[in-house]
Amino acid sequence: MSKKPEKDTFVTEITPRSEDFSKWYLDVVRRAELADYSPVKGFMVIRPYGYAIWELIQQALDRRIKASGHVNAYFPLLIPESLLHKEAEHVEGFAPQVAYVTHGGGEELEERLVVRPTSEAIIGTMYAKWVQSWRDLPILINQWANIVRWEKVTRPFLRTTEFLWQEGHTAHETDVEAEAETLSILHMYKETVETEMAVPVIEGIKSESEKFAGALRTYSIEALMGDGRALQAGTSHNLGQNFAKAFDITFQARDKSVQHVWGTSWGMTTRLIGAAIMVHGDDSGLVLPPRIAPFQVVIVPIGRDNWRETVLPKAQEIQRALQGAGIRVTLDEREERPGWKFAEWELRGVPLRVEIGPKDIEKSAVLVARRDTREKQSLAMENLDEQLHVLLDEIQKNLLHRALAFRAEHTQHASSYDEFRQTMEGRPGFVVAAWCGDAACEAQIKTDTQATIRNMPIGGSAPSGTCVHCDKPAIAEAWFAKSY
Ligand SMILES: [Zn+2]
Repeated sequence: MSKKPEKDTFVTEITPRSEDFSKWYLDVVRRAELADYSPVKGFMVIRPYGYAIWELIQQALDRRIKASGHVNAYFPLLIPESLLHKEAEHVEGFAPQVAYVTHGGGEELEERLVVRPTSEAIIGTMYAKWVQSWRDLPILINQWANIVRWEKVTRPFLRTTEFLWQEGHTAHETDVEAEAETLSILHMYKETVETEMAVPVIEGIKSESEKFAGALRTYSIEALMGDGRALQAGTSHNLGQNFAKAFDITFQARDKSVQHVWGTSWGMTTRLIGAAIMVHGDDSGLVLPPRIAPFQVVIVPIGRDNWRETVLPKAQEIQRALQGAGIRVTLDEREERPGWKFAEWELRGVPLRVEIGPKDIEKSAVLVARRDTREKQSLAMENLDEQLHVLLDEIQKNLLHRALAFRAEHTQHASSYDEFRQTMEGRPGFVVAAWCGDAACEAQIKTDTQATIRNMPIGGSAPSGTCVHCDKPAIAEAWFAKSY
């Protein structure tokens, strides 16, 4: 492994997407320098370019979290084991994935500590101390943190033992308020992912078997990846009073009675980066929506031997002008052939490439290439920033429309179980079908087809027919898919 690969073979090292989607994904992650494997199995290193994408997603979400009245705080990484055990369903759900700290300061600890798999237990414990009266409610706290859930099979961003996320934890006076919070967060997640990442999602409620351990109800947003598999992109849980009872979070109500609070929790993670790769990417690599692209524009100087004298000063001038106009721009002045640079920035998914050579300078123009459509056009240097802003907006919209069209093409309805199975085996994607609400029926469908219920759209009218599998009366239209 000591020999560096020939730079000319840079791009051909990516497995074509149509040939092997899974290998293509790993190639893109590695070659675009988004993440790398670490010495600890299942843990990943997020490299600067991948982290820059995360920061843009993180900032966009954080703005919305704060604008909707929430505040950020930070709770400890380690949780006494006994706290995790207070909520029975919760501990049962997470026990197989928990990592423990048994020693500290050279001595065995009296009580083992859990590396947080999520923070309901520690935050619930603190809320019990902080809440006395209805006047202390609601509590609307979010934390940005890392968590650990031990995984047997991992894949960068999509499933790693440690990942980054935000987790919101709220406490309310009434069940109505808690449900409203749960849904308003779900809508915020949908809006964020669709607006910032150009990834369309289906909002809905999870079945009992897929809900969060200890929750009353779990809602999710589900996206469709380029290989027809679904990806859960965010979840919002109505915890009811389960955690309040387990952690004794009580308050004196307006009528002086002592009551338990109503809770919610909700999270989105670094797996969103995986979604962006798999929804928009192509055979040449990453295709980044402008709003989450670390560089929205790359300037590549074109020219013969003396380009540093003839072209570079003008390229630098353009770079400064674009920076001044709020565009994230980089200038590639390395000593490489332009063709090699084009391929590399395509691989890294930069939405717009600006080429500038001696002839362009004579015409006071530049050549602009779009990553999404590969269209090229000559644009005047005058007001270039405005023209690029328009193009960036168009790319952002085009990527969302493209993903919506793909999802529409890969969503089918099935009215019989034969049809359901054939569709699921034939053309990957969502299959929408009536379902009875029975867990055993759901499990059988999964055994037969590997497909699970991703969610059931909120507010959808109850179907009149019978379950696609067992013919019992249907309770909902469910969105089924094979998933990550
Ligand atoms: Zn059924």
